[in-house]
Amino acid sequence: MNTPTNANLFSRLFNGVDNPDRLAIEMLDGQRISYGNLIARAGQMANVLAARGVKPGDRVAAQTEKSVSGLVLYLASVRAGAVYLPLNTAYTLNELEYFITDAEPSLMVCDPSKAEGIRAIAAKVGAGVETLDAGGNGSLTDAAAGAPPEFETVARENDDLAAILYTSGTTGRSKGAMLTHDNLASNSLALVDYWRFTDKDVLIHALPIYHTHGLFVASNVTLFARASMIFLPKFDPELIIKLMARATVMMGVPTFYTRLLQSPALTEEATAHIRLFVSGSAPLLADTHREWAARTGHAVLERYGMTETNMNTSNPYDGERVPGAVGQALPGVSVRVTDPETGKTLGPEHIGMIEVKGPNVFKGYWRMPEKTKSEFRDDGFFITGDLGKIDGTGYVHILGRGKDLVISGGFNVYPKEIESEIDAMPGVIEAAVIGVPHADFGEGVTAVVVCDKNAGVDEAAVLEALDGRLAKFKMPKRVFIVDELPRNAMGKVQKNVLRETYKGIYMK
Ligand code: AMP
Repeated sequence: MNTPTNANLFSRLFNGVDNPDRLAIEMLDGQRISYGNLIARAGQMANVLAARGVKPGDRVAAQTEKSVSGLVLYLASVRAGAVYLPLNTAYTLNELEYFITDAEPSLMVCDPSKAEGIRAIAAKVGAGVETLDAGGNGSLTDAAAGAPPEFETVARENDDLAAILYTSGTTGRSKGAMLTHDNLASNSLALVDYWRFTDKDVLIHALPIYHTHGLFVASNVTLFARASMIFLPKFDPELIIKLMARATVMMGVPTFYTRLLQSPALTEEATAHIRLFVSGSAPLLADTHREWAARTGHAVLERYGMTETNMNTSNPYDGERVPGAVGQALPGVSVRVTDPETGKTLGPEHIGMIEVKGPNVFKGYWRMPEKTKSEFRDDGFFITGDLGKIDGTGYVHILGRGKDLVISGGFNVYPKEIESEIDAMPGVIEAAVIGVPHADFGEGVTAVVVCDKNAGVDEAAVLEALDGRLAKFKMPKRVFIVDELPRNAMGKVQKNVLRETYKGIYMK
């Protein structure tokens, strides 16, 4: 059992930093932040938080553009024993009102342009407001500059909360996933090991830091390994290709890979210095995996996780990285597939609900005990909501979110199966398959397809290609050719947007 002090994620991250001059973060404007400097800045900011009345267990909410100060705010909150609550920068004031009144933070940090509106909302829950702009400056950093760097890291237990991340929630109310100090530390340490991170690594960090991928996977793993990261405010393919010459790892969402592939500058030579490309947060098309390997000589390592669970599975570092599969359960994590109706565990190759258990799995949804209870089995497994199967070699394959399952004429249709068939057609870039209310069938299988402009692929061509390859009940009733699929910032296709667009097409 850890002593309480050691269980604070901040202590676990930074205790034993042997060389405070070691580089932690590099910015392209020339800023270089050492480990010693990062710890000192977190100490200054933790002092400001305490002075503003933030007590252990209080929430510190932040909606700020990506900056080193934004990352320092996360570290300072954890260090002060508070619960860090990052918010997607795209949220409007109207949306923020829900999060603020639900989470009741004692402090809210926002961009100066939003401060006025936020103050009105924060006043309702008695929260203070500080500002931080895209350059990492504002009332928060002004105050921190005058604060002492020494701060005694607040003692926390493994099971105490370190963060709340609201899920993207495409249906119903967005839920706050409560993550403990040990959830975050144990998962990052497992990944350091699994992905062979060392202090020689240099990570290209182009992900947002309000999401589990950029905040926990990318940042915590780098810091635990005493590696360094090149911190980029946004994804810029040409710049990233240049940076690959001195980086060793890149973590990205699938859209990073498809967009990088569009650049002629992406070559085997340009990627020669990189030892590992990681993809996650959304499915990486098997085609993209293969194209990337052909062009660069690197097999992208795909892993699978979610806000509630951190990372669950990963393709191996040394073994086969299978295109379209998300690899095996990480050490310490148990993954099983169950019958969605009965909850009975299914054998290899059977499709069902993916469930996970381990030190990575969150504590529950903030102030939603009933919802929490209904998403856990009695034996502690969390019901992810993802449908998939485990193959004979223990690799997990994801077939889509449970809520995206199409039930047409009483038959289950797994969108991924139809999407893979369409993706394999020459001239097709990608496809999304959705269920749309249908007067006769309940739902009609509907394909939305993006094609090469000059390929001349149309609805008839897609249907003809599928004919004979798919059972009749799986055949799309309609195929729509579009320029692009709607995606959120993490590269996930927004099927709810597509369902909304096409609703009504099969109703009499
Ligand atoms: P989030 O909580 O925003 O990280 O979203 C988690 C969800 O993203 C998971 O439940 C999956 O549906 C999806 N996801 C994450 N990684 C992958 C992956 N490698 N392949 C397919 N889906 C993924």
